[in-house]
Amino acid sequence: FFVALEGGDGSGKTTQATLLAAWLEGLGHEAVVTREPGGTTTGRQLRAVLLEHRDGAALSPRAEALLFAADRAQHVAEVVRPGLQRGAVVLTDRYVDSSLAYQGAGRDLPAGEVERLSRWATEGLLPDLTVVLDVDPVTAARRRSGRAADDRVEAESQAFHARVREQFLLLAARAPQRYLVLDATTTAEVVQAKLREHLAPLLPA
Ligand code: C5P
Ligand code: MG
Repeated sequence: FFVALEGGDGSGKTTQATLLAAWLEGLGHEAVVTREPGGTTTGRQLRAVLLEHRDGAALSPRAEALLFAADRAQHVAEVVRPGLQRGAVVLTDRYVDSSLAYQGAGRDLPAGEVERLSRWATEGLLPDLTVVLDVDPVTAARRRSGRAADDRVEAESQAFHARVREQFLLLAARAPQRYLVLDATTTAEVVQAKLREHLAPLLPA
């Protein structure tokens, strides 16, 4: 079973993935918590390159999109597919929708092209469930400002993040049966409880 956690920077994806894994292990599932970019050794090298160009000026949007796609291809081949083949529940902190939101809507690349690039990189592997952790712009800006320099967010405009958020919500609205949108401005415990309640009946025995 494959779950992707999506949402803007500071929406709590990492926290929710960690809490979910503990619950899944308690139920007797193998849980694999992983992330993009940087879920593999090669991916961590690509992540370093991507984060080095945090202002987005030095790296062209197409070059950036290709590096994210390369990270994703390696991640799917090395971590996600093997995990799923073992019967594990794979929880990824970001996946295809992050590219559609950041490289597509955020950087203004044609959505269809970014989607085809991701489909090619993953050989069409889609999550069984995508969780969108939604945060309003004011809360999001406040959370981002408290982050370490690891995030590229400080140089990115409010408008950029507004486009990213809208895209996540649009993707969820397009295929509601494969999505769960949660208001992530409440406490991590409340978000986690809703996530578990939704996921429980979907999990394999
Ligand atoms: O979520 P994480 O902190 O790992 O993401 C690292 C940075 O890369 C974030 O600032 C995020 O905005 C950016 N990112 C991106 N496009 C993606 C995935 C992440 O611009 N597809
Ligand atoms: Mg995170």
